[in-house]
Parts: sequence; C-alpha cells; structure tokens
Amino acid sequence: MLQEILTEGECSLLRSLINDSQTIVLCCHQNADGDAIGSLLGMGEALRQMGKDPLMVVPDQYPDFLQWLPNTEKIVRYDKRREFVDTVLKIADLVFCLDFNTLSRTADLADALSKTPAKTVLIDHHLDPDVPCVLKISYPKISSASELVFRIVWQLGLFDELGKHFAIPVYCGMMTDTGGFTFNSNNPETFFIVSQLLTKRIDKDKIYRNVYNNYSEHRLRLVGHVLCNRLVVDSKHHATWFTITRDDMRDFQFVKGDAEGIVNMPLQIKGVKLSISLREDTDKDNTIWVSLRSVDDFPCNEMAQQFFNGGGHLNASGGRLNCNMEQAVEVVKKAIEAFQPLLK
Ligand code: 5GP
Ligand code: MN
Repeated sequence: MLQEILTEGECSLLRSLINDSQTIVLCCHQNADGDAIGSLLGMGEALRQMGKDPLMVVPDQYPDFLQWLPNTEKIVRYDKRREFVDTVLKIADLVFCLDFNTLSRTADLADALSKTPAKTVLIDHHLDPDVPCVLKISYPKISSASELVFRIVWQLGLFDELGKHFAIPVYCGMMTDTGGFTFNSNNPETFFIVSQLLTKRIDKDKIYRNVYNNYSEHRLRLVGHVLCNRLVVDSKHHATWFTITRDDMRDFQFVKGDAEGIVNMPLQIKGVKLSISLREDTDKDNTIWVSLRSVDDFPCNEMAQQFFNGGGHLNASGGRLNCNMEQAVEVVKKAIEAFQPLLK
C-alpha cells in the first residue's frame, strides 16, 4: 500500500475545492518537460473524471516527443492565446500549479497567475516552494510531480475509474523525471505505482520508444557533434562541460527538445561526477541556458543557485546566464573550482 501524502483535512479540502469550482485552470512551467506535461494531463483527466472541464495551459512550446500523449490537443499555449487565458484566469475559481515552486518559472504567465482571484493548489516536488496557495502539496523527495498526481488521485479514490488517458501521461512523467527509472527512483512505492499503472494496460515500452527513440536524424548527428567537438573533460575535477551555439543549431536544423538528455551523456564516462551544458538561446542574444547533472551527493542545485541564477534538484538542476558563451565558460570554470572539494 501507499503511504498517504494528504491528511484527512487536506483530502476533504481538495475534494471540496474541486466540487465547488466551475472554472478550473491547470498550468505548469515554461519549457515543459515530460513531468510537467504528464502531471498536467494526468490531473486534467482526473478532474474530467470528477465532471469538470479544466483548462490546461502551458506557458510556451513543448517538445515534439511529448505531442503524441493523449489529450495534448486540449492544451492551450499562453504565448499563442494570451488574451483567452487571461480572461479565463480572471473568472477562475481554482488553479492547479504543477511541477514548479515559484511563479517566475511560468515566464509571462506569472503575472496573470499572481492576479487571478482563484484559489490555488500547488502540486510540486522542488525545494522551497513560494507559490501563494490555499493547499500546498510539496514533496521534494518524491520522484516527480506526476507521481504526486497519482498519489492524490489514489487517495481521492478516483484511480479505479480512470483509464489509459490517465495512466499514460502519469507513467511518462515518472519515467522522464527519473531518466527511465535510473535515478531518484529507489523508493519501492514508485514501483508499486508503476505496477498499478500497468493494470490499465498501458504499453510502457512503447511510451519509452515514443519519448526516447523518436528524434530526427539531425538530433542524432547533433549529439555526435557535441560529444566529438564540444565536450570538455576536466578529469582532475571529475567534471565535464559542453557548449551548443546558435551556429551548431543552424547546422543541425535544431528544433525545441533536440538538446534534451545530452547533458546526461558525459556521466557515462567513468569517474565523472558532474556534467554541465551551456546552450545559447535560439533567439535572444546574451542568454545561455544552463543544465547540470550529477551523481551521488554532488549538489547541482547549490551550484545552480550560486553560479547560474537557477536551482533544481540535487542531481538535476538548471539556470540561465546573461552573457556570451565565452563568459559562460569562464563562469563554469569558476563554479567547478569553487566546488572542487565536493568533486573529489
Ligand atoms: P533542465 O536541465 O532539464 O532544464 O532542468 C533540470 C531541473 O532543474 C528541472 O527539474 C528543473 O525543475 C530545474 N530547473 C531548471 N531551470 C531552473 C531554474 O531556473 N530555477 C530553478 N529553481 N530550477 C530550475
Ligand atoms: Mn518534475
């Protein structure tokens, strides 16, 4: 059985918040990943099961390899339908914030979220949540927001009635936030949940292929280029970094999502504890997106906070630098130097 994450009081509060609401909005963070979309779609399906018709909103474009998920056609992009979403948020009764800990992670949507009269429920697994809400469901130790959605649905007694359209996105979110159950997934209950999702007759192998074996030829060649020509291995410090410039993106016909997962690859090198990716923004000058991945107890999130204006989890974090690529590489070198004692 599952350890319950909601108290009885929270459970009945959530139930009455949902039952008493006409207009419900669900949203997740910008540059949505598998967990953001998985939790959005999973919670959306559960609310439909409860007789509601929630509006599912993402701040901006999300990767092609998630577009096949059921019900993505119902997702509305804020960058494309801003006025419509603003209007709905002005009259909304209830907002669910999924997979982010601070409103700024929703980019342009943050302003409308901060002004909505709706009551807010937070469902998240990042450290230090500061989203104003009437119900905070925050569990940094849980593998994914999608797992939290499962646990909530389970506790509300909705799971039996739900089918594949719930199980597929939730499995997808759990799978992607744990790198296919290769990190952050040692809790036996995570596998109890997977076994329950499988009772809905989902094809987990196909979900894996749809997400990870669904890239263009250009993306595979981009990976080859990055690993061959852009990867720097600092063996002394057990650290690596690589850069992806706009020229690289042009050469390899980059589309959103093509850089996904490359940052994990240098961790395949024996002894490497930290991998850092630096990627130029596709449009904006002096904007470098930073991703960090580590193994064991090296705190990526502390490095991201101190050096890259970001944060995240112990072994997977991100951030942003407002400078050119050469300057960004200098920041990386400084960060590695500063964290040297933890990279031994
Ligand atoms: P990614 O490298 O995939 O963009 O991000 C890895 C993890 O770091 C994600 O789980 C994400 O939540 C977190 N993250 C990425 N960027 C930021 C950021 O700017 N601030 C914070 N607090 N977390 C971030
Ligand atoms: Mn997540």
